[in-house]
Amino acid sequence: LSVWSNVQAGPPDAILGITEAFKADKDPRKINLGVGAYRDENGKPYILPSVQKAEEIVLASVPNKEYLPITGLPEFTRNAALLAYGTESTPLKEGAVAVTQSISGTGALRIGGEFLARHYPKSKDIFLPAPTWGNHIPLFRDSGLNVRSYRYFNKETVGLDFAGLKADLEAAPEGAIVLLHACAHNPTGIDPTPEQWAQISDIVKEKKLFPFFDMAYQGFASGSTTKDAFAVRHFVEQGHQVALSQSFAKNMGLYGERVGAFSVTTADAAEKARVDSQLKIIIRPMYSNPPVNGARIANAILSNADLYTQWESEVKGMADRIISMREKLYNSLQKELNTPGEWGHIKSQIGMFSFTGLNPSQTKALAEKAHVYMTHDGRISMAGLNGGNIEYFAQSVDKAVR
Ligand code: PLP
Repeated sequence: LSVWSNVQAGPPDAILGITEAFKADKDPRKINLGVGAYRDENGKPYILPSVQKAEEIVLASVPNKEYLPITGLPEFTRNAALLAYGTESTPLKEGAVAVTQSISGTGALRIGGEFLARHYPKSKDIFLPAPTWGNHIPLFRDSGLNVRSYRYFNKETVGLDFAGLKADLEAAPEGAIVLLHACAHNPTGIDPTPEQWAQISDIVKEKKLFPFFDMAYQGFASGSTTKDAFAVRHFVEQGHQVALSQSFAKNMGLYGERVGAFSVTTADAAEKARVDSQLKIIIRPMYSNPPVNGARIANAILSNADLYTQWESEVKGMADRIISMREKLYNSLQKELNTPGEWGHIKSQIGMFSFTGLNPSQTKALAEKAHVYMTHDGRISMAGLNGGNIEYFAQSVDKAVR
């Protein structure tokens, strides 16, 4: 008898399951809108030209393969923090931001979860928006936090349930942790407005909640890295101490290179040094030190003015293509096909994803009859649409809802 004979088969990953079904489908019209990775106008993965140049620069410097320090490449973490907090950030100027390189956004969130579970003195409760990125729930649970939720999505309006969000944060126990998607909320594509962020900041202050920002899409939402950092910078300006997860998977297209950063703002340089020491104690037994290649690439872009400018325009190019797909899809459904329902949310949502409002039976029909694959909650990756498939997609949605 094998020692593993009692191991039960777990459920397959919801999103990777869609990719399997898509791969098995032989119809030439098939479309995969499940995966959260950017695709170009031809439906192909996109390597940013600025990233290609950065790779050449890194290679030309003939770097060795030595281990990085536990908290990663120092130039990279400094520049990543600058990108997020901005050059005018007071805690950055004061040397009071503790930052470590991480295994992309997921790793940053996990380091953050572990750090809060060990060292945040006020609460073990973390409030996540409903819905949220599916991986947040097991990730924070496995970090040792109690996962709770606050209202975020209004099914009726396919918009933000701002009243519900405020009521739930106001009712949260004092000191609880609140996870905020900094921009391009996944899966809904719905972000608070700057005015709403200001109100959220006020509630967080009044209830002494602790804000933990997940910024997986800086630049990807609006096309501007500054605009997309509004929420984080506003909270810091308002005097909040924050935790922040950053990913360079989407905005630099460095998915498999696993480049990210986790940071916390502290009172002063001495406190930062103490926090740094505890971050090292968390990281060392998990994976010792992070991979070096992606951080070098990202840092080559962040530290070179010309490449940085080029990168910013390439991020904007990706965001703009997605925004133009939203425009086209809205026009097809609302104006050309007169598809039943109101489709304005397709245009007002932002970032990689759109919550279409399609229900599970409609998404099932789309997969089975039209070879169009998306998550059962009706979320589509806008990046999977292009000039070659958007008409067919709109017609398929039209059929599915009639
Ligand atoms: N957070 C959110 C909201 C995401 O959508 C993602 C990726 O889809 C991540 C974090 C982490 O991604 P990665 O670990 O690839 O950086």
